[in-house]
Amino acid sequence: MMVPPPTPNRPEKTPAAVAMAPRRGNRADIAGHTKAVSAPQTEALADALRPLTTDPARAAVFCDIDGTLAPIVRRAEDAHVPGEVSLLLGRLARRYGCVACISGRSATEARRLVGVGGITYAGSHGAELLAPGSSRPHALEAFKSWEDRVRRFALDRDTPEMRRLRVRIEDKGAIAALHWRGVPDEDAARTHLERIAEEAEAAGLLTHWGRMVLEIRPPVPIDKGQAVRTLVERAGSRSALFGGDDATDLDAFGALESLQAEGRLEAVVRVGVRSGEGPAAIVERADIVVDGVEGFRRVLAALADG
Ligand SMILES: [Mg+2]
Repeated sequence: MMVPPPTPNRPEKTPAAVAMAPRRGNRADIAGHTKAVSAPQTEALADALRPLTTDPARAAVFCDIDGTLAPIVRRAEDAHVPGEVSLLLGRLARRYGCVACISGRSATEARRLVGVGGITYAGSHGAELLAPGSSRPHALEAFKSWEDRVRRFALDRDTPEMRRLRVRIEDKGAIAALHWRGVPDEDAARTHLERIAEEAEAAGLLTHWGRMVLEIRPPVPIDKGQAVRTLVERAGSRSALFGGDDATDLDAFGALESLQAEGRLEAVVRVGVRSGEGPAAIVERADIVVDGVEGFRRVLAALADG
């Protein structure tokens, strides 16, 4: 993903904020990623990460995947996490109390993409959790009570007509995903699924249309902030970092802010990954601003070395 040059007149951030993005003057040095960040930048980054690096056993490291670990690509299935980033996450897993990727992808797909077994994956924007070494994701507590109802709804619709249309039903615990990618007649499948979506809503369930997939979900709000809160509470973390590039990541920032306000976390670090497409708030609310996937890789490296 190409990262646009920094906005020349971006408003000053809070005093604590660290802009890891290169200034215009030395941008050429950084653009090709051939040169290490200059010493002051590295020191500023190390300072900003100190709350985590001084007590890693009680620190949590959370991040988004697409646009943060993996460059954005036209087709989501072509996304790729650089091997170096996966290795860094593996190192962090051995050092920090909790390391998790929190993504809109399913948890198993997130793990396949990142390729690190020793960390936690929160999938479907936090609706499901896949623990290190576990083969099956589990729904967050708020979802558990809905599993049977969603399963029954999906099973009742596993009809000869669905099989004729070749729509595949994926059981994601409290979420049922109905996939129609690659079916012989996409229009017919879509029409059929639109009817099912209406039935789901009439039954009090939520529907979510993704890329060639209809998800039937419990009527419980899902966001990445819930995953952050659950993982911090489970791990007993005292400090936490979240890095992300998009609107759904602001919920994770919000959870960090609330957990700190409640006294649950002593220190939080919000890392905003700047891109040409992300919302301005991801930069405005960040403690550390980095440019793109390469910028976030530097944060991971600093956490591993700090
Ligand atoms: Mg993203």
